[in-house]
Amino acid sequence: MSSKTYDAIIIGAGIVGSACAAECAREGLSVAIVEAGIIGGGATAAGMGHLVVMDDSEAQFALTRYSQQLWDEMSDELPREVEYDACGTIWIAAGDEEMAEARRKEKFYADRGVKTEVLDAHSLAEAEPNLRPGLAGGLRVPGDSVIYPPCAAQFFVDQAVAKGAEVFLGTAVETIATDGVRLRDGTFIGAGLVVNSAGSSSPSLTPGLEVKKRKGHLLITDRYPNFVRHQLVELGYLKSAHTLTAESVAFNIQPRKTGQLLIGSSRQFGVEEAQVNTSILVSMLDRAVEYLPGLRKLSSLRTWTGFRAATPDKLPLIGPHDEKLYLATGHEGLGITTSLATAKLLVAQIMNRESAIPVMPYLPARMAQEPVHA
Ligand SMILES: Cc1cc2nc3c(=O)[nH]c(=O)nc-3n(C[C@H](O)[C@H](O)[C@H](O)COP(=O)(O)OP(=O)(O)OC[C@H]3O[C@@H](n4cnc5c(N)ncnc54)[C@H](O)[C@@H]3O)c2cc1C
Repeated sequence: MSSKTYDAIIIGAGIVGSACAAECAREGLSVAIVEAGIIGGGATAAGMGHLVVMDDSEAQFALTRYSQQLWDEMSDELPREVEYDACGTIWIAAGDEEMAEARRKEKFYADRGVKTEVLDAHSLAEAEPNLRPGLAGGLRVPGDSVIYPPCAAQFFVDQAVAKGAEVFLGTAVETIATDGVRLRDGTFIGAGLVVNSAGSSSPSLTPGLEVKKRKGHLLITDRYPNFVRHQLVELGYLKSAHTLTAESVAFNIQPRKTGQLLIGSSRQFGVEEAQVNTSILVSMLDRAVEYLPGLRKLSSLRTWTGFRAATPDKLPLIGPHDEKLYLATGHEGLGITTSLATAKLLVAQIMNRESAIPVMPYLPARMAQEPVHA
């Protein structure tokens, strides 16, 4: 039994748990962070670190936009190793149908105050000379940016610790009780409230949660500075990211500050094994080469996989599960982007305060009315 009782125990030091811990500690709560592995070692280490405003739904837009503003406000404070890079996104339109989608997206963003720029074929080629000829154009979103997520998680934990938080590393929570958590080694840590931010493992601690693993593959190349200048994403990505059942790949490439290129991405449901699947990797790279033929000549350094935590309605679960257990999970492919807004919304609920955007769309209670995953 740990001698101390905390106001809040945060389970998981991924980017979401770490951001929540920092925000709780900032509010003056006494905080314990319990992490089974290492800080930022789960999906946070596997993800791309694209801070992106999305428009799949009003709720998704509100959360990504709010969070991006929080990242922007913090950008000067971020340590160098977080590699914050305001490179912007270009959504690439291969043909007329996708060009129409680029224009729809432009209007959606403009109506909500987000600056974008429609690119025709010529200005797309000028912006990104390594793209293949013949693409219709695209939509540049200059406000999007990129970070290196594990170092951001570490930064948030450091902020929490500076405000008095304690970290229990390499030790897993076995069960959540009404007054704290029991660790796998039998130790009990007491707390007024517990936050389950264990990412794709969150349902193992809170049975019945509508959160499923969605596997993704990524590859990183050697250093090729300026091979691409923006995060480039095919507009067809939206179709693949939105299907809830199929296996899918889409072109998504990110320039790192190191000069490396991070190439993604894939989505698979119903796969528990973490191994790289060669056929998925090959189709992901084939797709990337369709857009950037010069990739064929570059060397890759490493490939890996990670598990997104997906909910049926593609929105995270942020708020109370019961009186003393809060959830901050289910962020699928946007948890890096939305971690800061998640922390703000969670703490507003804990402190019984208004939040900057309405919390309703993200409340776990909505799941009682939602249809389950196919
Ligand atoms: C291929 C891929 C690309 C992505 N690209 C992007 C992107 O570009 N932009 C973006 O915004 N998002 C992206 N994401 C999504 C993003 O990575 C996740 O949404 C985010 O990292 C989730 O953070 P988390 O803290 O909830 O989970 P995690 O990072 O998985 O952290 C959960 C932590 O909980 C710990 N844990 C689990 N069980 C226990 C236990 N019983 N006791 C104690 N600790 C426990 C784990 O060890 C882990 O460290 C991507 C994801 C993938 C897989």
